Amino acid sequence: MAILPIVLFPDRRLRLPALPVPQVTQGLHDLAADMLDTMYAAPGRGLAGPQVGVLLRIFVMDVTWRDGTPSPCVCLNPEIIDASDDLATGQEGCLSIPGVGAVVTRPAEITLRWTDLSGQQMQERLTGFAAICAQHELDHLNGRLCIDLMDEASRMADSPALSAMGAA
Ligand code: ZN
Repeated sequence: MAILPIVLFPDRRLRLPALPVPQVTQGLHDLAADMLDTMYAAPGRGLAGPQVGVLLRIFVMDVTWRDGTPSPCVCLNPEIIDASDDLATGQEGCLSIPGVGAVVTRPAEITLRWTDLSGQQMQERLTGFAAICAQHELDHLNGRLCIDLMDEASRMADSPALSAMGAA
C-alpha cells in the first residue's frame, strides 16, 4: 500500500475520459487500496482514477470516516441510472484543485450502479453528501470538474484564485 501523488489542475489528464475497467485483477485491488490510503492521507472523502493519473473508471469514497465511522467504498464502472428532480446546492472541494470551493447545484438523490472489487454488480440509492460525492467523482471519470459547474456568484468570488491557475 502506498500514497500516490495527486494530479493537480490544470493537468491535462484531468480532462480526459477514463476507460472502462475490463476485469478485476490483483493490480486493481492494489490500486484501490492505494487510492483509499491516498484519499485518507490527503485528507479527502473521494478520489477518482484520473486524480492519480490512472485513466480507468474507478473511484473510491468514504463519506463517514471523518465522523469516526469508516465506510470505504470502491466503485468500478459506476453509472447513474436515476437522478431526482430535487436539487441540492453546496460547496464542493477537490483534492486536485486545492484551495478552491465551488458552489455547485446537482440532483439531491441518485441511484448508482457499479461493480465492486469482488466483481459483483451493486446498486444503491444515495442521498445527502454521498449523492453529491459520487456525482463529483463520476464527473472526474468524464473529464469534468466541479469548477465547470460552479454558479456565477462563486465563480466571481473565486476568480482570482482560478485565474492564477489558468481556469477563469
Ligand atoms: Zn475532485
